[in-house]
Amino acid sequence: MIPTYPHYNKQAISELCLNKPLVNELIALKPVSWFNPERQPAEQALAVVGLTADDVDAASRRLARFANYFQAAFPETVSSQGLLESPLQAIPAMQRTLNRQYQQTLTGQLWIKLDNQLPISGSIKARGGIYEVLQHAEKLALKAGLLQRTDDYAKLHSESFKTFFSQYSIAVGSTGNLGLSIGMISAKLGFNTSVHMSADARQWKKDKLREQGVTVVEYESDYSVAVAQGREQAKGDPYCHFVDDEHSIQLFLGYAVAGLRLKTQLEQQKIKVDRNHPLFVYLPCGVGGGPGGVAFGLKLAFGDAVHCIFAEPTHSPCMLLGVYSGLHERISVQDIGLDNITTADGLAVGRASGFVGRTMSPMLDGFYTLSDNDMLTLLGQLNEQEHIQLEPSALAGMPGPWRVIQDNDYLQRLGLSPERLANAHHLVWATGGGMVPEKEMQQYLAQAAALASEE
Ligand SMILES: *Cc1c(COP(=O)(O)O)cnc(C)c1O
Repeated sequence: MIPTYPHYNKQAISELCLNKPLVNELIALKPVSWFNPERQPAEQALAVVGLTADDVDAASRRLARFANYFQAAFPETVSSQGLLESPLQAIPAMQRTLNRQYQQTLTGQLWIKLDNQLPISGSIKARGGIYEVLQHAEKLALKAGLLQRTDDYAKLHSESFKTFFSQYSIAVGSTGNLGLSIGMISAKLGFNTSVHMSADARQWKKDKLREQGVTVVEYESDYSVAVAQGREQAKGDPYCHFVDDEHSIQLFLGYAVAGLRLKTQLEQQKIKVDRNHPLFVYLPCGVGGGPGGVAFGLKLAFGDAVHCIFAEPTHSPCMLLGVYSGLHERISVQDIGLDNITTADGLAVGRASGFVGRTMSPMLDGFYTLSDNDMLTLLGQLNEQEHIQLEPSALAGMPGPWRVIQDNDYLQRLGLSPERLANAHHLVWATGGGMVPEKEMQQYLAQAAALASEE
């Protein structure tokens, strides 16, 4: 069944605005920051998620079992021994540029996590999306007696396994990048794959999937409808697995593996994280599964020393709206009159995952919104200062550190003194852009240049 949600008339929205004044700012498309007064200590918040470090550990071990498969099926993963991970680096030139632009000096260090460089699909979706397909494939093969956990999984890259998996299908609804990740891995394994794409998905993503033999179903409407339709079509078919971006535990666990991996990377870089050396992480948020899963992994790895903040476009602030109002998936940005149209296509989601909003919000420090023009401007600046090219969504985390240092109430409440902030690392999670065709990238850069010359 396609879920039905409450309808809000004018009066209901006026009442909401009275009780929750920040909604007025969202309606006016103003960039806002909101630091969560209900943030809880990590231990307490983690206890109610219903998932544990053991679950994330199991996901991590599953990915390790597939390392040989990756090396066989995707030669670009040989150099990392079949591990799909992205690099981490400091971006001091960008930090200087933004210190000037925002007229406030960030005393800690600005770093970036380059998920745009993740193999296979060039976005954060390579974490959750690929993991869920592997989990499903492994389950089918184990059940059929074709595979044992101790086998060399390179054998999955063979005609006989492709024939086996071709009896099954995988479906997903997506604004683009999730479809791309699921499509690439499922088609490679041999599954029949359908991707239900929302109207905002980029043409090149659809083309790329069709090249891999994936069935792309296009919708005139937005992401929520594409997901609902995909879910509905898959339901009647016992051979079809629907990857449910709004509810999937497997996706969430795939993302969460990032937490411990980041811990190892930071240790390798000799970066300390503890109460006196806080780590701030800025995560672009669409439906919430990606940033939610990563934040869950980070909380397991760093506890109270990590501060997670979600970033959304002013036209699609679904998670901020859902958490702030307490209505979660029962309210959409369209309900407050927003259009959910943004150049940040990975974030063009009007209704957040209730699962993520409810379980993760006690672990989150805050939420903020920024305009499309800000994302494009930052895209140009990062290219100029650091020679890093991202898609617009992936820039959403960039202004986060300055939003943090501008909010004295929040800093005081969490005991984030100037001494502690001076030791902080601010990590912007760059969620995608690795697959953007050169021509599209040039268009983004031209848009950024046009904005820069307007000033
Ligand atoms: C999907 C996506 C996100 C957000 O992930 P959600 O799970 O939808 O919240 C952020 N950035 C990019 C580039 C994405 O593709």
